[in-house]
Amino acid sequence: MKKIAVIGTGYVGLVTGTCFAETGNDVICVDIDKEKVDLMKNGKVPIYEPHLDVLFERNIKEGRLRFTTDIAEGIKDAEIIFLALPTPPGEDGSADLSYVLGVGADLGKLMTEYKVIVDKSTVPVGTSEKVEAAIKAHATVEFDVVSNPEFLREGFAVDDFLKPDRVVIGTNSARARKIMGELYKPFVRQGNPILFMDEKSAELTKYAANSFLATKITFMNEIANFCEIVGANVDDVRIGIGSDDRIGNRFLFPGIGFGGSCFPKDVQALVKSGKEYNYDFDIINAVLRVNDQQRLRLIDKVLNHFGDVKGKTFGLWGLAFKPDTDDIREAPALYMIEKLLAAGAKIKAYDPEAMANVKKQYDFDIEYVDNQYTAIEGADALLIATEWGAFRNPDFELIKKNLKKPKVFDGRNLFGLEEMEERGFYYESIGRRTIV
Ligand code: NAD
Repeated sequence: MKKIAVIGTGYVGLVTGTCFAETGNDVICVDIDKEKVDLMKNGKVPIYEPHLDVLFERNIKEGRLRFTTDIAEGIKDAEIIFLALPTPPGEDGSADLSYVLGVGADLGKLMTEYKVIVDKSTVPVGTSEKVEAAIKAHATVEFDVVSNPEFLREGFAVDDFLKPDRVVIGTNSARARKIMGELYKPFVRQGNPILFMDEKSAELTKYAANSFLATKITFMNEIANFCEIVGANVDDVRIGIGSDDRIGNRFLFPGIGFGGSCFPKDVQALVKSGKEYNYDFDIINAVLRVNDQQRLRLIDKVLNHFGDVKGKTFGLWGLAFKPDTDDIREAPALYMIEKLLAAGAKIKAYDPEAMANVKKQYDFDIEYVDNQYTAIEGADALLIATEWGAFRNPDFELIKKNLKKPKVFDGRNLFGLEEMEERGFYYESIGRRTIV
């Protein structure tokens, strides 16, 4: 059993804290957001993440998971302190380290015995040195700073955390290495590795992983765009290349671009890190450029088809940047809404989990409805922006009945071309022929 403090109780912090409690550790989660902490103290999970609620409730009940807004109370007894703080993009695209370094300085003032400070936030290469300096400026005790980037995916966060493909731990301290190895032992029982390396390599591993995945998706989006031009079918091309082990069949589905809280910001931050060292990432710059265009690809198709959309109504399925999350950060749907509204269209939107977040954060002049079929009542077309499970096998007859004309613009390639043809839909998707 280890005593752990997790500072920052968002997607990563709450999952980290809960999963460490689940493996028998004593965990206290610290957050400055009082409303969030009060909610958690009352047994409520403040985010939507599958399977989290069960573990959350069990560990609170068994006394291994607590919450506070008081950092001093939070870290008092902790041997290991995780930083799961935001690192949002600054105005120039570089990662804003003010949260991480600010808390680092606080820790320096508060620590009265040796502690391992673990950076779980995604940060540019070289940040652990900055964190160390921020702590050292005030510290009177020994400490180690470890880089332990997190690879969980929202929507699968608990499963990913409990059974990671690998755990990356960046440290040159033997003392910290031993403590971290013991902590993660229960998570690697199936033989998945704990990879020890230096701090800089660990930090860069995270940016390299996200940038590689963003590149893979973007590459496939470009192939899909070209498929449309030459009359090829991207489904076949995807399977054709994905069957090659060197390529692999995952992360090859084309769509309306990557979004979310991680890929856009991490890819941009890597470019920015490169610039600081006078290195220009050609590939990654191109990825960002292509993705900007891809996010609006479906709306371009809509505008192309309808010409003028002024006064036309569109039913929009999906707001979250991907299914099984309420996270809307950098969601393609938001860019689509902006462009459609600017063109004078009306939108009726439905998302199973993300509507509250959009309502709270954006004052879009759109209608939110509580059912996917209500969204398309009297609409000129259905637009699909997120591949939620409930959208995959819908009541096609009801879709036809509710729409003015059976027109579907699918940014996630949810349906087969033949079935849409048989059902009599006008159907546009990504990288495949249009069914007219
Ligand atoms: P988040 O915004 O969901 O959570 C951050 C939390 O930190 C918030 O609850 C906020 O109130 C709290 N906070 C801010 N300042 C604080 C302070 N001074 N003291 C205590 N709490 C404070 O962010 P997230 O999605 O959990 O991401 C955290 C980090 O993990 C980021 O660097 C991100 O890039 C990285 N990451 C995220 C994911 C993901 O899928 N979300 C995956 C891997 C890595």
